[in-house]
Amino acid sequence: MDELPTTQSLTCKLKLLLTEDQTKAVRRTALAYRNALNHASAVAFANGKMSQGMRLQTLVYQELRERFGLPSQMACNAPRQVAAAYKTLWERAKSNAAHKAKGWTKRRYKGFDQAPKFTAMTVTLNHRRDWALGKEQSVSIGTLSGRIRCRYEGWNRHLDWLEHTADRGITLGAAKLWQDPASKVWYLLVSIEKALDPKATERITTIKGVDLNRRNIAVESNTRGRCRFYHGGHQKHLAERAASTRSALQVKGTRGAKAVLRKLALRERRLNADTAHCVSKSIAEPHAMVGLEWLKDIRNRTERRHSKKASVKRRKANRKVSSWSFADVQAKTAYKTRLSGGVPIWVDADYTSQGCPICGHAGRENRLNNGLLFVCARCGHTLHADLVAARNISMRTLLVRQDWVRTGRLSAVPEASGDEAKAVRLSRYAELRWSLDASSVL
Ligand SMILES: [Zn+2]
Repeated sequence: MDELPTTQSLTCKLKLLLTEDQTKAVRRTALAYRNALNHASAVAFANGKMSQGMRLQTLVYQELRERFGLPSQMACNAPRQVAAAYKTLWERAKSNAAHKAKGWTKRRYKGFDQAPKFTAMTVTLNHRRDWALGKEQSVSIGTLSGRIRCRYEGWNRHLDWLEHTADRGITLGAAKLWQDPASKVWYLLVSIEKALDPKATERITTIKGVDLNRRNIAVESNTRGRCRFYHGGHQKHLAERAASTRSALQVKGTRGAKAVLRKLALRERRLNADTAHCVSKSIAEPHAMVGLEWLKDIRNRTERRHSKKASVKRRKANRKVSSWSFADVQAKTAYKTRLSGGVPIWVDADYTSQGCPICGHAGRENRLNNGLLFVCARCGHTLHADLVAARNISMRTLLVRQDWVRTGRLSAVPEASGDEAKAVRLSRYAELRWSLDASSVL
């Protein structure tokens, strides 16, 4: 990825204001579509767990039209969706086999024990054929009982974009009709492409690094020394409380308890998404280059033990890790940065929390007991460990910026050209020194 993306894809969530009859029509369509998915899934399973969409389509198309009453476009979308799901399962099965061969796991892959079942009330709709924007904040949606037209609500910014698609550089794509399982409200999730302002990134005035970790949700630091901690105290508190309720309910194990557990999981997911939204929104800013850590598998980086022998403390730590999605915060930060006219980039994550920003000395010994404080074993530099990481990331980001200015080429992610190239990068990082004059190099 050497060039800046010219568009950003995102989803607009529109709440549909349906009449009673319209709700019935939508519900009937979603049920038929779900049955169609499950039928296609059974056929795919019986035919060697098929993952080719076109082949599956030829097998089921006629029946989806006649027996399930789907319009032609949906009868094409359903097998495609099932095939895509099978493809993912095959990838998981393969990676499980690879892990088993290496002795990393003993667990057998169970995803293919039976035909995967589709339970969500979701319908994939193609733009113009199955759904279209109408005038005065309305949409039309194809159902089994014909087209319906209804008004919608949403975020002000999204409403503005949809109202003025041409002026705002918006291209509409496919949509998903979706029922929130908790509130039973129907939404239209519209995929859009937003054209980015190419001029916004011509003038970069701020360089910053963002460290994501378990203690704080995020810590950011720019090269001028300004920093910010996002503690997520409230979020953490709620997650802890949810975890203790969860374990109590799991012990109980009744049907009622299971229903409450499902609700709890949904609420927790919403809470996490909200927090990620708030944090990423405040990190994103125009004319800023925002450096993030390249964490393809952050979960593997932190030590995790799943055996029954794992201590209570370790299990509690695992829970905290799993309930919070770094990838989600990163993805949101990246797209909000782009939308606000900044440039998100990724740098190597190696030694960001172990390297001394003052003298360059790197090593585990700089982090006594993996604690909150960074104390350099060579020069004695002492600072909050997460701030050290954020500063190191900001310096690496500045390096990328300088390379960009010098060569005219931006490497937005660490190049995957092998160990040698990485070793060169790491040795360049080791020479970085924190100084508040760094920004003058811009
Ligand atoms: Zn030092």
